Amino acid sequence: MPQPSTVWKPIPFPDSRKQEMLTYAEEHYGLHTFRLVHPQAIVEHFTVTTTFDPVYNTFAANTPDLGELPGTCAHFVIDTDGTIYQLVPMDLMCRHTVGLNYTAVGIEMVGESDRDILDNPQQLTAALNLTLWLMQRLHIQLRNVLGHNESLTSPLHMELVSSFRCQTHQDWNHADMEIFRRGLARLAARFGVSLGPPATPVDSGC
Ligand SMILES: [Zn+2]
Repeated sequence: MPQPSTVWKPIPFPDSRKQEMLTYAEEHYGLHTFRLVHPQAIVEHFTVTTTFDPVYNTFAANTPDLGELPGTCAHFVIDTDGTIYQLVPMDLMCRHTVGLNYTAVGIEMVGESDRDILDNPQQLTAALNLTLWLMQRLHIQLRNVLGHNESLTSPLHMELVSSFRCQTHQDWNHADMEIFRRGLARLAARFGVSLGPPATPVDSGC
């Protein structure tokens, strides 16, 4: 699987933001690092915008989310024309999915619904290519390619702060992720990328 072409468009991630990420990781995961070490999952999102610029500006601004710093971010954002932007190095943790930031690469897609992306062949192709390339490069199994809305039932979900434990978003629900994962499986077969065992969702208790 060749690496899809990517535009490097970094958001500011100074030492102060790394320190905020470290403090967050200690509080929420009991981890003493701001680094994303051996990521096991990829979480798919949509931005609830129609263009890229406000997404970049939101992630760059580093404003508190759910009352805490650092601000939200994702490693990649895919524009509606299929352009893949990388905003954050893959070895840094980003806040994009409560409970999974410690182990997940985040991919945002510019759009207002799952259907917006599924109905946009250029953007969908870019998302599938990027995701499969990351799966291959990071040895991530298909069962751990998740929609944000599937976060709570992932066996990888971990959250030490009780008020955050049931927090998720509506982007990329299970039914639409099944369509997305079928597309990934077809692409994986073409490039000989292994998919791993089937998913074993857990009861979130939420
Ligand atoms: Zn999301």
